[in-house]
Amino acid sequence: MSSVAEAAARSWGRIYFNALAIPFWGVHVLAIVGIAITGFSWWGAALALALYWPRMFFVTGAYHRYFSHRSYKTSRWFQFVLALGATLTAQKGPLWWAAHHRMHHKLSDQPGDLHSVVQQGFWWSHMGWILSNDLEDTDYSRIKDFAKYPELRWLNKYWMLPAIAAGVITFLIGGFFALVWGFAVSQVLCWHGTFTINSLSHLWGGRRYTTTDDSRNNPVLAFVTMGEGWHNNHHHYQVSARQGFFWWELDCTYYVLRALAAVGLVWDLHGVPDHIRDSTTEAEVDAAASALPDVA
Ligand SMILES: [Zn+2]
Ligand SMILES: [Zn+2]
Repeated sequence: MSSVAEAAARSWGRIYFNALAIPFWGVHVLAIVGIAITGFSWWGAALALALYWPRMFFVTGAYHRYFSHRSYKTSRWFQFVLALGATLTAQKGPLWWAAHHRMHHKLSDQPGDLHSVVQQGFWWSHMGWILSNDLEDTDYSRIKDFAKYPELRWLNKYWMLPAIAAGVITFLIGGFFALVWGFAVSQVLCWHGTFTINSLSHLWGGRRYTTTDDSRNNPVLAFVTMGEGWHNNHHHYQVSARQGFFWWELDCTYYVLRALAAVGLVWDLHGVPDHIRDSTTEAEVDAAASALPDVA
C-alpha cells in the first residue's frame, strides 16, 4: 500500500480534524453563522462573487498554469504577485501546491496519485488530501525551478499570513457584514470550487482524449473554475496556457492571461498545436506528456 493510500485510510478525525484543519472549519462556521446573523443579502452574495473570481483566477492562472505547468512566462516581480494573490485563497504555498500537483500528473489515477477519486474516493480527493497533516511537507526536489527564489520559499512557509491579512482588512473596511460575505462565504466557495477539479473532474463529464487517467471535460465545472473543468483537455496536453481548446469552450482564466499578455505583464503563452488538439490517440498523449517541464 502506498503512503498516500495509508494516509487516506486514516481515521476521519485524523484527516479532517487535525490542528491544520481548524482555520478551515472555522471559516466554514463563520460563513454559516454569519449568514444566519446577517440574513441572506443580494449585496452580500455580489460581494462574495466579486471576491471569488479574482481568487479563482489566482488558483488556476498562478498555482496551476504558471507554477505547476509553466505554461507562460513572466517577470520575477510579477511572478511574486501571482504567488501572493494565490496565497489569498488559503490553499497552502505556491511551492507546496505546484509540487503536489506535479505528482498528480505523474501518477494520475494510479497508486501514489496524491488525490485520486479513483484510488482513494471522493472525500479524500476533494479535501482530505489538503487537510491531512500527512502531506504537509513540500518536496522541493519536485519544484527546483521555483524553489531557487528565496521570496517564494518565504511565501511558501508563511502562506497563511496573506489569507489572515485579507480577513482582517476585509473586516476593517466593511465590518462584520463584509467579513462574512466578502471573506468567509467567498473563501468557502473558492475552496470547494477549486476542490471539484480533483474530485468531480475525474468523475463527471465527457472524455475527448484517451488519456491514461479518468479526467473529464465538464462545462459546468469549467464555468465554476474559470476554465479548469476542461480537465480531460488539460491531462491530454498539460503545458497549454488554455484549457478550453476550442472557442466554444469557456476558459476565463485564459482570457485574463491574454489580457495580461496584451499589456506585457506575461508573455509566451503556450498554445495547443493543431495535431495535438485534433488527435485522440495514445501516441499523441505520449507526445503531449513529453512536453512537460522536467521535474525529476
Ligand atoms: Zn495540471
Ligand atoms: Zn487531474
